[in-house]
Amino acid sequence: MAVSDHDVVLGLEVHAQLLTRSKIFCGCSTAFGAEPNAHVCPVCLGLPGVLPSLNRRVVEMAVRTGLALGCSVRPRSVWARKNYFYPDLPKGYQISQYELPICEGGGLDITVGGAEKRVRLTRIHMEEDAGKNVHGLAADGSSGVDLNRAGVPLLEIVSEPDLRSVDEAVEYLKELRRLLVWLGVNDGNLEEGSFRCDANVSVKPRGAEKLGQRCEIKNMNSFRFLRQAVDYEVRRQVEIVEAGGRVEQETRLFDPDRGETRAMRSKEDAHDYRYFPEPDLPPVRVEEAFVEEQRRALPELPQARERRYVRELSLPAADAALLTAERQVADYFEEVLARHGRTPEAAKRAANWMNGEVARLANESGLAPPSWKLRPEGLAELLGLVAAGTVGGPGAKQALEEAFRTGAAPAAVVQEKGLAQVSDQGAIEAAVDAVLARSPGEVERYRAGNKKLMGFFVGQVMKEMKGKGNPAVVNALLQKRLEG
Ligand code: ADP
Ligand code: MG
Ligand code: ZN
Repeated sequence: MAVSDHDVVLGLEVHAQLLTRSKIFCGCSTAFGAEPNAHVCPVCLGLPGVLPSLNRRVVEMAVRTGLALGCSVRPRSVWARKNYFYPDLPKGYQISQYELPICEGGGLDITVGGAEKRVRLTRIHMEEDAGKNVHGLAADGSSGVDLNRAGVPLLEIVSEPDLRSVDEAVEYLKELRRLLVWLGVNDGNLEEGSFRCDANVSVKPRGAEKLGQRCEIKNMNSFRFLRQAVDYEVRRQVEIVEAGGRVEQETRLFDPDRGETRAMRSKEDAHDYRYFPEPDLPPVRVEEAFVEEQRRALPELPQARERRYVRELSLPAADAALLTAERQVADYFEEVLARHGRTPEAAKRAANWMNGEVARLANESGLAPPSWKLRPEGLAELLGLVAAGTVGGPGAKQALEEAFRTGAAPAAVVQEKGLAQVSDQGAIEAAVDAVLARSPGEVERYRAGNKKLMGFFVGQVMKEMKGKGNPAVVNALLQKRLEG
């Protein structure tokens, strides 16, 4: 027996920090990166005698996310205290939701290796984040607790154990992250921990119905670490099973330095947390009108947009995926289409430039679309010049660079820098004649059947014309002269 004789089963719990300005139960700022304990108050410090009050924006974002994922929204959901002792949890309990979460059911479609599959969701609930233990926090080098993060709102999104490989798990996370960022509820930053994932992993003999015992792996802040951790964990569990042993349910921590997972604690069951309803907060009541309001506020979702680009614009799937990786890029592309046109030819031209030169320049500048000096109308103007043959590839590229850097109108750049393509018959004929006159040997070999030499002639004519000859006209004239 080997790893290949086993099915891998994965279920993911994602914690996503919500992009509210203030915390979930107090008015403190959620900004990342402040001085330790700069954003705290009696409520998030857990001082006695204070009461939490719910930030309405959290419920809006939770409902919007649930609707985008096809969940059902509970009209009444309940806060619960999850009790455990840890220095980063000042109250000694976390306010979360347990039996009655805000959203249930739903799912997310993923495509892996060309096959589409639906990953079902169990639930989405709201809760508060904990603080952070920081080594060397104090001036004397001793450790301390930073409570800036305590009380930052989180959504916990729990999947069913539907994932069957680490590739599927990574795809699920990328798809979920794209959606949350698209909705404006999360910034998708794994490194800073605003999008985090715990992976539940088990193995079972190939094809068996019954799921194996699972371990939960914590502390993975990159897709690479997730892959390493799951691969390691699968091998570890298969070895145990093959040696006739039993996998113990436990919580394991991934150590990126050693590429291993190791036991952190034996798995606590729900009863270890002594969950009970939070007495300081009333149940969350969500009225139908509120849900409808959130539904109306949903933008076209990334998967719908991606599929539409393939269906309506006949774009290749890879182009559509690149264009919809980020909402701001996709919205920019929409504005370009509105001006340049939606025929398959126009859309493909716009996609090629967006995913090629524009993406390259954007990467170099590090700017997001709203900050690009080149506005959609500018790019559409350039595409119009390309479509009309006024400017060729190299000239358009040069004009784009200038327009991207300065915000100048591409047509003006083409004019000022003399980048327009020459389509004039007379000028091209002169260049063709000059090239043929100085290449008698090549002309003879071409006429004797070496048709590959066409590339040589085109190159020479282009050089003669400083790259500005219209390639279609150059080709046609060369053909005429050489064949005629
Ligand atoms: P807890 O809150 O104790 O972690 P849950 O019952 O909420 O437990 O389950 C957490 C996650 O574990 C879910 O994402 C679920 O899909 C996953 N899971 C449950 N059973 C298995 C299993 N046998 N193998 C892999 N994942 C599993
Ligand atoms: Mg768990
Ligand atoms: Zn506070």
